[in-house]
Amino acid sequence: MTPGMPVIDDGKLTSTNPATGETVGTFPVATADDVALAVRRARQAGAWWAGLGFAARRERLRHWRTLLAQRLEELTALVHRETGKPLFDAAVEAASALEHIDWAANNAKRVLGPRRVRTRLLVAEHSAHLEYRPYGVVGVIGPWNYPVLTPLGSIGYALAAGNAVVFKPSEYTPAVGQWLADVLAEAVPEHPVLQVVHGLGDTGAALCRAGVGKLGFTGSTATARTVMAACAETLTPVLIEAGGKDAMIVDEDADLDLAVDAALWGGMSNAGQTCVGIERVYVVSAIHDEFVARLAAGARKLTVGAENAHLGPITMPGQIDVIRRHIDDALARGARAVVGGADAVQPPYVYPTVLVDVPDDAAAIREETFGPTLTVTRVADADEALVKANALPYGLGGAVFGHRRAIALARGMRSGMTSINSVFTFAGMSTLPFGGVGESGFGRIHGEDGLREFAVAKSITFRRMPSPLPILSFFRKPAHERLLIRAVKTLYGRNRS
Ligand code: NDP
Repeated sequence: MTPGMPVIDDGKLTSTNPATGETVGTFPVATADDVALAVRRARQAGAWWAGLGFAARRERLRHWRTLLAQRLEELTALVHRETGKPLFDAAVEAASALEHIDWAANNAKRVLGPRRVRTRLLVAEHSAHLEYRPYGVVGVIGPWNYPVLTPLGSIGYALAAGNAVVFKPSEYTPAVGQWLADVLAEAVPEHPVLQVVHGLGDTGAALCRAGVGKLGFTGSTATARTVMAACAETLTPVLIEAGGKDAMIVDEDADLDLAVDAALWGGMSNAGQTCVGIERVYVVSAIHDEFVARLAAGARKLTVGAENAHLGPITMPGQIDVIRRHIDDALARGARAVVGGADAVQPPYVYPTVLVDVPDDAAAIREETFGPTLTVTRVADADEALVKANALPYGLGGAVFGHRRAIALARGMRSGMTSINSVFTFAGMSTLPFGGVGESGFGRIHGEDGLREFAVAKSITFRRMPSPLPILSFFRKPAHERLLIRAVKTLYGRNRS
């Protein structure tokens, strides 16, 4: 058996440690009928949960947050065992997830609760009311690379909005998914507001077809297409958080040490298995050589191994072939490895690799590598960097290092999120929405948009007095018709500033 490969046997899914092959957890595989049953139970749980109201949900979600924080070491040890991620990196991931649960719980009422909105002159006898109502049941399908932060970015916000959730974790990280739900059940013992269904892609596909009100998918762009097609059968709305090939632009007035440190972290933390991981770096010519020298020196210092190392194993064994192909293809096309290279791939590990002179059409530039590799490309100036950064169908995140033009470059980057003089900061900023454009997906988790993503706008009007202009009636008078025409011309028929 390959360490890290999940094993399916006798209707059970067993996840294993990618470094050691040790068993982490065994869970029953949910059939399509099991998934349908979970969604039916969730519908009842969701009705109860929605009926609790914002304040009671807030208290329970905060209780969940507290339990998770109190058991942080238990959680990070489990994430470490199931993904191979270094322990403290797992703690950073969990800290970010707790921040999101806290923010969603505390802000759901303000963002989604009933409010009066302004009426308009032609319908001034009506008051206008807006509220955001839960879908009932939200299905969440998650990946393995951030098995806490990524699913909770959907689950925490969906729960705060008043939905029950049925969650299908990745087959590589079922134990983490189950643990999160079990802890929530302690804070919300009455009804199963978060259920976990385990299995492979079939189980996820069954969830798409099980009648959920909305499906939140996080995973690869290829699977996103399949998920959308399945959801299209029932017009189930979807949120797609898909892959990326994020770029970093280093302008001539950048703080080089800061940029190098961030490129290493952005490209190689979690062994490069980060959706918003930096995979391509574009550096203006004047500082390119110095940047590469410092980056290489930093990359050589990184340690690789199962325990107490900067980089753990590659979680999904199959990804190793993709990483190897990208490195080999780049080298075959004339690229140079200033660190790592062909020998960097030593399953289950991949050692840090920095590639320069990589042609723009190489797989290492165009496709998601999901390993600890960085391409560094020399550009004449930041404008050329921007053109190259924006040349792919992906558009998830990105980073800009510099000062004078930094904001303009960040705005110009075709992505859902860009951080200036740091990497990944937007992911932990609970007040900011998270999501991509193009083949990186659509819809948003986190922030106010993330709460609204899991709720439906409900508009209500209330006629408070007789209508001065009763035109929505078969029995209106000619005088009303004339008055309306006059009013329209007065209100809209003139150019006004
Ligand atoms: P996959 O697309 O392989 O899988 C994602 C989830 O979808 C898994 O739970 C998987 O189950 C499930 N699935 C597989 N096939 C189907 C199907 N036919 N119908 C429904 N569900 C299905 O992605 P990975 O798990 O490999 O995750 C890595 C990818 O996720 C990368 O591309 C990364 O960029 C992206 N990602 C995006 C993020 C974002 O926020 N934009 C955040 C984190 C990761 P199973 O595992 O059992 O096959």
